[in-house]
Amino acid sequence: MEAGSGQAPPAFDPAAVRALRPSRPVHDPWRPQGVTVELERGPGGELRPWATVFLTGAECPFTCVFCDLWRYTVSGPTPVGALPAQLRSALEDLPRLLLEAGLERCDRLKLYNASNFFEPRAVPEADLEPIARLAEEFERVVVECHPRLVDGRVRRFADRLRGRLEVAMGLETVHAGALPRLGKQLTLEQFDRAAARLLADGVDLRAFVLVGVPFVPAAEQAHWAAASVRHALGAGARSVALIPVRGGNGELERLQRLDWFEPPDLALVEEALARGMEEAGSRAAVQVDPWDLERVQSACRACRASRLAAIREMNRTGVPRRTACDDCG
Ligand code: SF4
Ligand SMILES: [Zn+2]
Repeated sequence: MEAGSGQAPPAFDPAAVRALRPSRPVHDPWRPQGVTVELERGPGGELRPWATVFLTGAECPFTCVFCDLWRYTVSGPTPVGALPAQLRSALEDLPRLLLEAGLERCDRLKLYNASNFFEPRAVPEADLEPIARLAEEFERVVVECHPRLVDGRVRRFADRLRGRLEVAMGLETVHAGALPRLGKQLTLEQFDRAAARLLADGVDLRAFVLVGVPFVPAAEQAHWAAASVRHALGAGARSVALIPVRGGNGELERLQRLDWFEPPDLALVEEALARGMEEAGSRAAVQVDPWDLERVQSACRACRASRLAAIREMNRTGVPRRTACDDCG
């Protein structure tokens, strides 16, 4: 694809982006979206079990063109007490999940709220202490937050935790033409400033990098994914998660019709992961977000299963590899 076929990119209009969305499913703010247990490779190469609790709460105030996380949110503010109640019930489920996975224990926790953990509308201030108490058994706790919302609350929450806090921030892309059009309302300087603040406060950094970025030509996608990983590492990230952009929010379908977006292919995801790992070496863990990997399209049916297996193996081992296919190369 030649992104946009030479036309000027469409102006970002959050109201128009929202208008294209399918209706939001109704969620009970007192129930989590779910909890999973997965093995994840750390920066030292070790595979360890992580629990991820998908919390239900208020929607993010930003309107990124690629984001579908609003589907898992409620329309008003998160009620006080709801997140501790959700976390309590998710943790009650954890022993069963560990047993099913054949794992004894899990001391790593991700608390993903489909929004920003340090925004009081999404996570009421009064809930930070009970959440920290519930997370006491974990050595490491990851939460997600937009870099512009990283402030003194991060340090205060880190101080309440018994384990180490890690904040996951979306860098998305360092492509100078694409980043301002994503609706993220983020500059690289803001990302770097937030990263430096985290590190100065003794908080670890994880970064999200997109694969299949709108407004970036298909032939340049792997290059820019690797450049974005390099930038995240330079800002101090110890983990980088590559996120294949998935359609379904209405806006991406509109951009696709205008030739400004092409859903990423498994071959691209595999290449971006291999290049990202080559950038990182043994400095940091680079992985593809395993959720929804099955939904990523493959133009070539002959190598789909091999590429999925290669991506999963790279996630596990940290060793870059590329699938050779007689049909697509
Ligand atoms: S900042 Fe994050 S949660 Fe908010 S719209 Fe953008 S990608 Fe989605
Ligand atoms: Zn193939």
